[in-house]
Amino acid sequence: SDFGVPTALALVAEVERRHKRGEVKTEVEFRKALAEGVEAALKKGNSDPALRFNRSGPTVLLVVGVNGAGKTTFIGKLSAAFQKEGKKVLLGAADTFRAGAIDQLRVWAERAGVDFVGGAPGSDPASVAFDAVEAGITRGADVIIVDTAGRLHTSDDLMTELRKIHRVIGKRLPEAPHEILLVLDGTIGQNALAQARTFSAAVPVTGIVVTKLDGTAKGGIVVAVHETLDVPIKFVGLGEQIGDLEAFDAGEYARELVEA
Ligand code: GDP
Repeated sequence: SDFGVPTALALVAEVERRHKRGEVKTEVEFRKALAEGVEAALKKGNSDPALRFNRSGPTVLLVVGVNGAGKTTFIGKLSAAFQKEGKKVLLGAADTFRAGAIDQLRVWAERAGVDFVGGAPGSDPASVAFDAVEAGITRGADVIIVDTAGRLHTSDDLMTELRKIHRVIGKRLPEAPHEILLVLDGTIGQNALAQARTFSAAVPVTGIVVTKLDGTAKGGIVVAVHETLDVPIKFVGLGEQIGDLEAFDAGEYARELVEA
């Protein structure tokens, strides 16, 4: 399930310990013990799946991750969920590098029925992020979600750009962004761990979104990512449709993971 070696060994050791104590004898007990081990690992440390909201103004969410991870789709689904709750949402398209990224986000904004701010292709992403926060404040948005590029000429360029966007948002609204959500494709195995390390070295990631768990991938990598970064998993993506988003539940995830 892509747990990775250290996590897998720790889980095995825990089940063995419980077997020696006589608690695990049957296959059903084995699966239950394994699920409990996974759930406990996910609930250790920084593990609250709830989003942190700003109590005294708009909440700014910065969304990062490589191209194809599912950032745009996630933002679309989350916007629709907020919109349903009666929150006023504004999307900022700060991926000005990839042709089509701005339009793709605009389409999701229309689909979800939320407000949208995008610069011209090739314009400075940090200034688009600034404008989005500015517009959100002026227009009375409850939540401002800023999309970012997932690829530039080099990884260093991308990380420098993300740092700049992060800084500029904080200049316009102190304490923002209130969340930095890293979107990881749940089907890419151990590569997700490398991505998690790279992004969190550039900006202080506060939550993980794991996408594409509707397929065959079990996404065991979430445990390794949580343990490595000490950051909570906040959402899982379960498809390409607007309603295919779930708040992360460690217990439910663990039980589904060990199902036969
Ligand atoms: P971005 O480049 O990070 O913005 O990624 P996109 O949001 O454009 O998604 C890349 C591809 O993955 C698209 O074809 C999406 O429809 C698909 N996708 C995104 N999230 C999910 C998911 O949870 N499940 C499935 N099956 N596909 C997804």
